[in-house]
Amino acid sequence: HQFPKDIGWIEVVCGPMFSGKTEELIRRVKRAVYGKQRVQVFKPKVDDRYDETQVVSHSQLKLTSTPIERAEEIFYHLLPDTQVVGIDEVQFFGPEVVQVCEALAYRGVRVICAGLDQDYQGRPFEPMPQLLAVAEYVTKQLAICVVCGNPANRSQRLVSSEERVVVGAAGAYEARCRRCHLGEP
Ligand code: ADP
Ligand code: ZN
Repeated sequence: HQFPKDIGWIEVVCGPMFSGKTEELIRRVKRAVYGKQRVQVFKPKVDDRYDETQVVSHSQLKLTSTPIERAEEIFYHLLPDTQVVGIDEVQFFGPEVVQVCEALAYRGVRVICAGLDQDYQGRPFEPMPQLLAVAEYVTKQLAICVVCGNPANRSQRLVSSEERVVVGAAGAYEARCRRCHLGEP
């Protein structure tokens, strides 16, 4: 993209698990750093047991980030000269993350969000639909279906749970296409 100058905007990178959302967020953030821009990266504290400050892709790329519980905390951490804000796992924040991203963009910040657009049953994962609607730039990525090798837009849950989110369980999900995806494990 040829991005505009002197104004802020919202970019969203979405797709299923393993589609390279975190890799793409890291790539964009690193390029901004090469461009001598001031960047801050945030991610939700989804699990209190860890004070994990790294954003890590499935391919082991890493980025230092600030874990926060609520999207509004970005304003407490935001430094006056920050030009780019990255947010990973944006689907774990509540609906207020949309207003936070918009407020940042109005302040002139480039906001780069990465997150799941669908839950494990293939339902839109709020607040992603709302965020996609107000974003200037949307990138939808696909993974590779582990069953048939076609492009995959779904995250197949492999373990039973009543929860919409199962975190930290290695091997709990795999990428599947529409045809191979099952609503339940
Ligand atoms: P996301 O943030 O979307 O979950 P990541 O950026 O963390 O994705 O990881 C993407 C990487 O995951 C790929 O570059 C690849 O190395 C790896 N990977 C593992 N399984 C798959 C799959 N089924 N399809 C595509 N990539 C996969
Ligand atoms: Zn398939």
